[in-house]
Amino acid sequence: MVKALLGDTLTLGHRSNDGKTVHEIEVPQFGLGVFLMKKNGECRNSCQWALSSGYRHIDTAAVYENESEVGQALQETSIPRTDIFVTTKLRRGDALGYDAAIAAFEASLARLGLDYVDLYLVHAPPEDVECRDDVWRAMEDILDSGRSRAIGVSNYGAHHLEELMENAKYGPAVNQIEIHPWLQRHELRAATTSIGAVPMAYSPLARGHKVNDQGLAEIASRLGCTPAQVAIKWCYDQGCITIPKSSNEGRIIENIASLEVNLEDEAEALAELDEGYISGWDPTSQP
Ligand code: NDP
Repeated sequence: MVKALLGDTLTLGHRSNDGKTVHEIEVPQFGLGVFLMKKNGECRNSCQWALSSGYRHIDTAAVYENESEVGQALQETSIPRTDIFVTTKLRRGDALGYDAAIAAFEASLARLGLDYVDLYLVHAPPEDVECRDDVWRAMEDILDSGRSRAIGVSNYGAHHLEELMENAKYGPAVNQIEIHPWLQRHELRAATTSIGAVPMAYSPLARGHKVNDQGLAEIASRLGCTPAQVAIKWCYDQGCITIPKSSNEGRIIENIASLEVNLEDEAEALAELDEGYISGWDPTSQP
């Protein structure tokens, strides 16, 4: 039996156009990412292992094609729905306008087998600049309807956030972007918090590309933990919602155990790892 280690929660809110913060909720700061879990049962098993080792937040997306397996795991667990935070995302190909965004949201709910999600994100800035306001209007209506307890964006650069805020009734509660010790993104994180949103760190292990990094290994050996634990805990200590992916039961447990790692004496060594490394895509720099 694994000792459950739940981690902290953060408060999410939406800055409204009269300057108030509305629709405030709590989010577990640590969660499981389920990108690339496509094999039959892989996502369902991983969610089950994660929930039984203390994870209370699952980050999926329509484009990952595993929302229904997340839904199965939620149905099978004895943990109450209200104790689990579910994030999913509007596929870029569906971010075409108001009606398309609402229809895509409803399809995600159906695949998840849920009547609400906790956080719904625009996966990336809609490619058609002209439809961005309409897509965000749909997100705001989803929030007001209570079918998502919070709304946000992903892969938005500072200019996208600024543009969104010009006509928004509610600002995003979250900007989910790639963040890890090799891509520390101080400016984009500051732009995110300046509009009242919380940075959510995706690919905290740089998609696994950096788990054998020499500098990281040295820090881990000084601390007596694993390299992955250092990278994950660094994201968490920056105040980011942190969602490492693993489909392996042992690594799922290893990753949540990173919350017990103390990086206090390694701040300088970690600051030096920053090299602007993008592990996947980077829509933040698109128009
Ligand atoms: P991560 O940075 O979390 O790395 C995942 C990789 O690292 C996998 O290959 C995994 O392999 C491996 N790994 C996990 N734990 C360990 C460990 N302890 N030691 C060694 N290797 C390990 O990559 P992701 O890109 O998946 O990012 C995490 C989540 O962020 C995604 O799953 C998704 O939810 C979200 N995301 C969002 C994006 C967006 O555009 N909004 C883009 C990318 C990700 P194994 O499974 O075998 O353990």
